[in-house]
Amino acid sequence: MDATTSVSGKGLQVGVVGAGVAGLSAAIALRRIGHSVEVFERSEFKNENGAAVSITPNGGRILERWGFDSIKAGGIENIQVSHPTIFLGCLHGAPFKSSHVWGTLDSGLKPQQVRRPKGDTLEPMAPTLSFANVEQQYGNKWYFYHRVDMHRQLREMAEAFGSTIRLGAQVMDVDPETGMIHLKDGSQIQKDLVIIADGQHDRLNAKITGQEVPMKRSGQTAYRCLIPLKDILEDEETRPFFKGQAPGFWAPALPAKGVMAVTYPCRNNEILNVLAVHRKLGQHATSEDDVVIDDWNFPATHEDLEHVLDGFHPSVKKMFLKSPEVKVYTQMKRDPLSKMTKGKALLIGDACHPMLLTHAQGVSSSIEDAATLEVFLADVPASGDVSATPSEKLLQRLEQYEKFRLPRVSATQILTNPIVPGPQAAAKHAEQEAEIRKYYSGPLPATGAMPHSPPICQFFFGYDVEKEGKAFIESLEHQETTGPEVAGEEEVVEPTPQPEEAIVKVESVAPIINGVQKTQVVEKPAPVQEASVTTMEQRVLDLERKLADMEKKLSAMAIHVSTMEVQLTPPQSPPAQVETQPLIFSS
Ligand SMILES: Cc1cc2nc3c(=O)[nH]c(=O)nc-3n(C[C@H](O)[C@H](O)[C@H](O)COP(=O)(O)OP(=O)(O)OC[C@H]3O[C@@H](n4cnc5c(N)ncnc54)[C@H](O)[C@@H]3O)c2cc1C
Repeated sequence: MDATTSVSGKGLQVGVVGAGVAGLSAAIALRRIGHSVEVFERSEFKNENGAAVSITPNGGRILERWGFDSIKAGGIENIQVSHPTIFLGCLHGAPFKSSHVWGTLDSGLKPQQVRRPKGDTLEPMAPTLSFANVEQQYGNKWYFYHRVDMHRQLREMAEAFGSTIRLGAQVMDVDPETGMIHLKDGSQIQKDLVIIADGQHDRLNAKITGQEVPMKRSGQTAYRCLIPLKDILEDEETRPFFKGQAPGFWAPALPAKGVMAVTYPCRNNEILNVLAVHRKLGQHATSEDDVVIDDWNFPATHEDLEHVLDGFHPSVKKMFLKSPEVKVYTQMKRDPLSKMTKGKALLIGDACHPMLLTHAQGVSSSIEDAATLEVFLADVPASGDVSATPSEKLLQRLEQYEKFRLPRVSATQILTNPIVPGPQAAAKHAEQEAEIRKYYSGPLPATGAMPHSPPICQFFFGYDVEKEGKAFIESLEHQETTGPEVAGEEEVVEPTPQPEEAIVKVESVAPIINGVQKTQVVEKPAPVQEASVTTMEQRVLDLERKLADMEKKLSAMAIHVSTMEVQLTPPQSPPAQVETQPLIFSS
């Protein structure tokens, strides 16, 4: 269904707190499966702001399925390849338009690496990275957007799908048990389900988890600015940085000073997005030690930026200082939550799993959350009465959503915490993996895989949340029908002797897979009789032990397999051998 088709079915009455990327995506997803959606947003969106956002293939494939028009939203594909159209466009001083390149990448030109010059001398640094062939490798493109353009189109889609968006409606409180939403104007609205998507400064998460989980400093301060590309191309001194270059990352850094800049284009390649991150300042250069900037648009000055860029090549400084204004924020992080749902409420997006910008997963994970809602709540019927206790089906699906999603987002949160290369790196990587394993038992990139290396990209970009979510539900349904699977290369454990009559053969109806329903014969324990209780308990214990063994084996296998995938992209030209810090590929 495309965005212009509105769904008329009634479904659940859902309230969404916050119309950011997560809230709007949830609204689209829930309308697609026929639920009624009312979004409460505190802002009036009169001065929409924000810099660029980068949407990796895992988020992009969902937007594509929903009919999101990347061209209309001024999206720029992260191409990393030279192209004659771009080259000519730049030579004539005209900014390259995204429409020049779509569908025409058949020039046979070689993909370029991400450009990572040393900030002072501009020599290339090692290790280099390549995001060439992203679409071939991960199934979808990687797009850059101005956040405002992307957000506006999501909002239009949410409304076209039939959601009601109430601007200037600040939510003060939510009661997860009753589904009651309390607004600042004193009114209250009750819903069957409340999706809490009010961003990283959310205070409602404690209502779900029962505990305060504080936001912590990441130790990084990010200065952001947007520069018209035309201004850069018109200046002979700064023009060579982008002349003849396809849209992609250009990231000069001074690792020894703990400063790195990441730039990429957005809005039809008319604007260059710049993020200069200072690892050592740990705060806004002119603020008090304990100041935390929790506003995405906190103003900074050109002097602040100049101070951060101390030691950079004069042309780099000149280019960055062309920006009309500078913003700053302190990057915060939070440990994974222990829960994401309670009663009639569910946390999504940054409210649930704020993460650092290193792998551009904040926005894409929020879109994944919404896609998960679409899979898990598709068959939950309307309650007919919002004051009624939630249906068994709704509670079951929310619990399953949490089982499916919480381990994955927790792993993502931890994995996006950067590890600085150096003598401590190996120990830090092992620590990071041990931390992830507290929450997540699935396959992981090999310990020590470099940020943005193929195994890491595969983990993030190759993930198809919709496919995985459907498989998860199918496996639960299958287990319900057949009992837990104990197949495969399991250790042979002597079965506890069973009386012949304890096992009965029954015909069971298997779930419908690809439209085919098969009758299968499964072995089911006979109804337990008093005399066999001890035997049955023993059997359950045996099964639990077998399962634990299998889980252990599986997680070991996953690590082993992914070890084979680590291959660093060889540099194109002899690079300067300096210790680099992990790149940041978001805002
Ligand atoms: C103004 C703004 C600018 C941003 N700029 C960038 C950027 O340049 N680069 C980047 O990578 N990320 C940026 N982000 C964050 C990025 O959009 C998120 O990390 C990601 O999209 C996850 O989105 P979210 O919807 O969970 O949170 P957010 O995008 O933070 O959205 C939360 C929404 O909830 C609303 N809200 C908060 N409290 C309440 C309340 N009590 N009642 C009602 N509504 C409430 C907020 O106004 C906001 O619209 C920005 C976010 C905002 C709000």
